[in-house]
Amino acid sequence: MIHASDLYKSYQTGATALPVLRGVDLEIAAGSFTALLGPSGSGKSTLLSLIGGLEPADRGRLTVAGVEVVGLAPEALRRFRATRIGFVFQSPHLLPTLTAQENVEIASGDPRRAAAMLEAVGLGDRLDAWPDHLSGGQRQRVALARALVHRPPLILADEPTGSLDQQTGARVLDLLEQIRHAGATLLVVTHDPAVAARADRTIRLCDGRVVEEQAG
Ligand code: ADP
Ligand code: MG
Repeated sequence: MIHASDLYKSYQTGATALPVLRGVDLEIAAGSFTALLGPSGSGKSTLLSLIGGLEPADRGRLTVAGVEVVGLAPEALRRFRATRIGFVFQSPHLLPTLTAQENVEIASGDPRRAAAMLEAVGLGDRLDAWPDHLSGGQRQRVALARALVHRPPLILADEPTGSLDQQTGARVLDLLEQIRHAGATLLVVTHDPAVAARADRTIRLCDGRVVEEQAG
């Protein structure tokens, strides 16, 4: 699902370049659930942005869901993101002037599929609710529905349970696992040992490279 080799990424701040990814090699199998660990600032979000086509790599090779991502033209990149990737962030970023259903509908264009997806995440009775009237966990489930409604083969989640209490986080995690069992591939950045424990593989960013975390 993901083949990355020798990926480099730096951020330019004024005259100095901050190297973040320094030769990332990574293979992720279709249908797997991988947890990505690493200290704050180690480049976890940057790596997710590269894989999901939100940020360009400086160099290296990257194939995601059969698409060569490095060097894609903007329109092809937009289509790649819209059809192959489901992003889940730590904060749900819902549009406050749209209902739960409308927030999901903007990702699918189809109100019935939006409603069905909200039902699947346990919010079938809150379709018309405004984001302000939902709890943090409910908002995160709306964001999850929005990320999944177009049935992307790859879900990229950046600390998806980071802002949730333990019980709500466990519920979000259950939903992610359901999707994985339906055939999607999951790559989840997390600090949460409960999330890492449920992954079938754990990798870590260390000095700008990906290293395998030993099991047990
Ligand atoms: P993590 O998600 O592991 O905390 P990030 O990928 O967010 O790490 O950031 C890695 C490093 O790159 C940090 O030092 C961060 O400050 C820096 N960084 C991230 N995004 C930008 C940006 N857009 N411009 C400049 N520096 C950035
Ligand atoms: Mg981050």
